[in-house]
Amino acid sequence: RAKEKGKNTYEFFTSDMKTAALKRAQLEKDLHYALQRGELELYYQPQVSLKSGKVIGMEALLRWNHPELGSISPDEFIPLAEESNLIIPIGEWVIREACIQNKKWQETIMPNMRVSVNLSAIQFHQHLLVKVIEQILQEIDLDPQFLEIEITESIAMYNADYVISKLKDLKQIGVKISIDDFGTGYSSLSYLKEFTIDTLKIDRSFINDLDNSGIISTIITMAKYLNLNVIAEGVETVDQILFLKQHLCDEVQGYYFSKPLPAREIEELYSSLNEVAASFTLD
Ligand code: C2E
Ligand code: MG
Ligand code: MG
Ligand code: MG
Repeated sequence: RAKEKGKNTYEFFTSDMKTAALKRAQLEKDLHYALQRGELELYYQPQVSLKSGKVIGMEALLRWNHPELGSISPDEFIPLAEESNLIIPIGEWVIREACIQNKKWQETIMPNMRVSVNLSAIQFHQHLLVKVIEQILQEIDLDPQFLEIEITESIAMYNADYVISKLKDLKQIGVKISIDDFGTGYSSLSYLKEFTIDTLKIDRSFINDLDNSGIISTIITMAKYLNLNVIAEGVETVDQILFLKQHLCDEVQGYYFSKPLPAREIEELYSSLNEVAASFTLD
């Protein structure tokens, strides 16, 4: 009997794993066609300056509208895109699409808007990266200072010399560079000052618990010392914003203002977002 039960458990387990593996294989296969079938879409999440009380940036966040499975999160398909190297064409599409959108915004209702795109490690290490970005900017005629590249702290951590020179090359073409999810890795102060970066984004995991207030204020102080712009991610409450403002954090981003939305919806919200943002400059 026990043996029987054991056997059933075993079968149940394997069929479960098989389902997961099948889904993964299916997604990986479908991902090959996602770009050409127009299933990829950029959502945008506003970034608010606590100094000017205005929306000054938009982070582009990728979505995959799968024909059968609906919207799939980047945390689920970016790893698949990385394994299959599809991240190279997809990543290039993201950069171009975000720049095209920003150019349109700049020429209409959002002058001087900045757009940020996330770069995966594989993209960062691709030797054509800098040329590709430079070419996209020229093609679209977007001033490079309005494009920000987000790399994670983990990219910045290994092979330092190579990373430093790549960051310098990016800096040379005039784009901004930001370190995403800061605080989750192990970069030290002395390490960061070698990097030609502009912005530190404090990871959401610190912001969603104000028990971390000491860590947050220390990161802000350190960033100021290094002359970096600091953004707090994952801001959901007024209390968080007031705390961050008090500790001189430059910018905030999170569900409090808006979750990531399609470009059209962000445009509709834009003036009310600025009104909410402005309320944080009044003392
Ligand atoms: P990330 O770059 O750190 O982006 C922030 C994530 O936190 C986004 O998840 C965003 O929707 C979510 N978020 C923002 N504000 C809040 C908040 O107040 N509360 C909570 N709970 N969550 C918030 P999303 O859009 O699912 O993206 C997940 C990750 O996928 C991104 O993390 C980024 O690492 C990656 N990703 C997204 N788009 C791209 C892309 O185009 N290329 C690459 N390589 N990676 C991407
Ligand atoms: Mg990001
Ligand atoms: Mg992040
Ligand atoms: Mg993240």
